[in-house]
Amino acid sequence: MSTATLTVDLGAIVANWRALDALSEGETAAAVKADAYGLGADRVARALARAGARTFFVAVAEEGAALRDALGPGPAIYVLSGHMPGDADMLGDLGLVPVINSLDQMVRQVESLPGRPFALQLDTGMNRLGMEPSEWGAVRDIALAQDPQLIISHLACADMPDHAMNAQQLRRFMEMTEGADCPLSLANTGGILLDPAYHFDLTRPGIGLYGGLPHVDARPVVSLEIPVIQCRDVKPGETVGYANTWTAKRPSRIATLAAGYADGLFRALGSRAQVHAEDHALPVVGRVSMDLIGVDVTDLGFDPKTVEILGRHQSVDSLANAAGTIGYEVLTSLGARYTRRYLGG
Ligand SMILES: *Cc1c(COP(=O)(O)O)cnc(C)c1O
Repeated sequence: MSTATLTVDLGAIVANWRALDALSEGETAAAVKADAYGLGADRVARALARAGARTFFVAVAEEGAALRDALGPGPAIYVLSGHMPGDADMLGDLGLVPVINSLDQMVRQVESLPGRPFALQLDTGMNRLGMEPSEWGAVRDIALAQDPQLIISHLACADMPDHAMNAQQLRRFMEMTEGADCPLSLANTGGILLDPAYHFDLTRPGIGLYGGLPHVDARPVVSLEIPVIQCRDVKPGETVGYANTWTAKRPSRIATLAAGYADGLFRALGSRAQVHAEDHALPVVGRVSMDLIGVDVTDLGFDPKTVEILGRHQSVDSLANAAGTIGYEVLTSLGARYTRRYLGG
């Protein structure tokens, strides 16, 4: 077998959810959009539901439909893109709750699913989704009269605790929801860690469940083990990989790994990345290819059968750093070719 093995520790995800849940008085939901950040929404959400999670957030109605299939009728599933054209049957039949983002969506909801549950998103400064203060001012009384299940907004800078934007969005959220007597939700993972003032009735952690920053105390969730296809000796002056970007300075032993950028191991990782065999760090040499990566095993003293690129020695965030990106992108890019193994849950 030459495909890499991605191991997802569902027990660690549950432990991370419980740790974040313990920080607040209110309810703790789970953001499982984008297939639970690439880790498998069905497995992840079922494990969290067994642990007591009752509310889930997805990006689009189609994700909500798949999640309803996995979870059955009980849990609340909120669709962050709201009510888009063509969504009414899926939302209505499967009991998905659209998070209404605009007056247009509000009209669509009221016309096609009158009396059915919905939530609202307010824009408190991120300028991405949700009603702006002026729009909200015009529909507020009508919208509140229809008993929204939840009002949410989203923080732009929650992973930067000292950023002035946080307090500004908090203030705007409180102003815009003053007097509303439905549940409120503002905090993603970063927001939970900022201060209890951001928690309100429901928090919506995503990345912190999956072991990523800013949840510094999170238990690691993923490990990725890649088989070595071949090892070879390379003489000083010889090169490795496309465009000859790496030249041996000494007699070297090079291992070729069975994964590449088509598996979400970004080409931009370049030579800043490492992998590990047992406890030894091995540098990546040359360009990352579509299906292959070269590593220098000269100092290891033996030819490894497999190496680890994510796990005990290298977190999702350190690998992301090497590629100039964030843990979220590493997770959601994890390859479709991996053999997936689930632990616990
Ligand atoms: C993705 C998302 C979350 C979860 O954010 P994390 O930073 O991963 O915790 C919460 N709320 C909304 C609206 C989101 O889009």
